[in-house]
Amino acid sequence: MKVDWLIVGAGLTGATFAERIANERGESVLILDQRDHIAGNAWDEYNSFGILEHKYGPHIFHTNSKQVWDYLSQFTEWRPYFHKVLGSIDGKLVPLPFNLNSIDQLFPSSMAERIISKLVNVYGYGSRVPILELLKASDEDLRFIADYAYKNVFEQYTLKQWGMRPEDLSPAVTSRVPILVSRDDRYFQDTFQAMPLLGFGVMVRRMLSHPKIRIMLKTRWQDIQDQIIFDRMVFTGPIDEFFQFKHGKLPYRSLKFQVDTFPFELSQSAAVINYPNEYDYTRITEMKWLTGQRHSQTTTFTEFPIPHVHGQTVPYYPIPTEDNKQLFKLYQEESDALQGKVIFAGRLGDYMYYNMDQAVARALMLFSKMNKNG
Ligand SMILES: Cc1cc2nc3c(=O)[nH]c(=O)nc-3n(C[C@H](O)[C@H](O)[C@H](O)COP(=O)(O)OP(=O)(O)OC[C@H]3O[C@@H](n4cnc5c(N)ncnc54)[C@H](O)[C@@H]3O)c2cc1C
Repeated sequence: MKVDWLIVGAGLTGATFAERIANERGESVLILDQRDHIAGNAWDEYNSFGILEHKYGPHIFHTNSKQVWDYLSQFTEWRPYFHKVLGSIDGKLVPLPFNLNSIDQLFPSSMAERIISKLVNVYGYGSRVPILELLKASDEDLRFIADYAYKNVFEQYTLKQWGMRPEDLSPAVTSRVPILVSRDDRYFQDTFQAMPLLGFGVMVRRMLSHPKIRIMLKTRWQDIQDQIIFDRMVFTGPIDEFFQFKHGKLPYRSLKFQVDTFPFELSQSAAVINYPNEYDYTRITEMKWLTGQRHSQTTTFTEFPIPHVHGQTVPYYPIPTEDNKQLFKLYQEESDALQGKVIFAGRLGDYMYYNMDQAVARALMLFSKMNKNG
């Protein structure tokens, strides 16, 4: 088979490239995926009870990029959705990220009032203060609340999520965790927050609906690479796998999901409840909150972080440590040597955690750069 472009991986990164190449350049694309579906980790499907579920864990769309919003809006209508997360802390369910309402719920009223007025006076209402910055405050109450949030919300969750202590992760991860000096209980504050009306799978199917795009599923690139003649390639699989792990394996964290369906309408009071301190799972998601579906039954996903074992588990999260960054750099140098014949992109190709909007934004940017260069 001969095509202009071979794209490995039919997730959001691969689909954005395929769509742009077919529509903008009129060139032919073969996009393949080892899974039996498109849309990568964003895939959603109806389970045997007729409930729409996110097969690889909860996916919520949010972005500040008008470019990404406008681009994806060509392929889907949206259902407005503000994501809310509660954390089980000291026996109460309080809003996360930790905010003024969480403080009100957790502490006696005089104490809560004192802490809240100090936060507002020092940092201003509406600000996001990184916990690590707050830990350095000279005021005892501010240090107390920072320490409380760090221990009860962040530290234990990080241990479960990554199997590592926060200080062993890249500072970029720990330095971002904020306390919100506001009463906005939404998990995200992005300008655009919504869910695709018919789901992510339908959105990606529409992106790939073009006569110049051919989709091949249940196909590993390694198994057919000799049978396809192509001019150029986009690779959104694991970059270390592409280079036969010559510098060693890039580590990932994986997940195991326990999926339960209950014979009643709703089982919890928010889309996601985090359990930073109890149990060995991190969070439970109730799918109907995300999808807006009405149904007499309800499905939940309970998430257990597990070590990734190559060939046995799904490589979900690149592990953000300095050592891993250095290892990735060696593969990046290998990819630079290919001088643009192969474009590496996406969560696995760039060994970088991207939200969906970031994955699309990066694919749009790389496409436009490549398109300019011919
Ligand atoms: C648990 C979880 C929750 C998330 N929640 C959110 C969220 O709420 N909001 C948000 O914006 N983002 C979320 N994300 C991130 C989102 O999943 C990614 O941004 C998005 O999937 C990136 O798309 P991608 O195409 O780069 O990668 P992927 O979706 O991983 O697609 C890569 C595809 O390549 C295929 N592939 C790999 N190797 C080969 C090979 N050798 N041959 C053939 N095919 C191959 C894989 O099967 C896969 O389908 C979440 C991620 C995870 C893991």
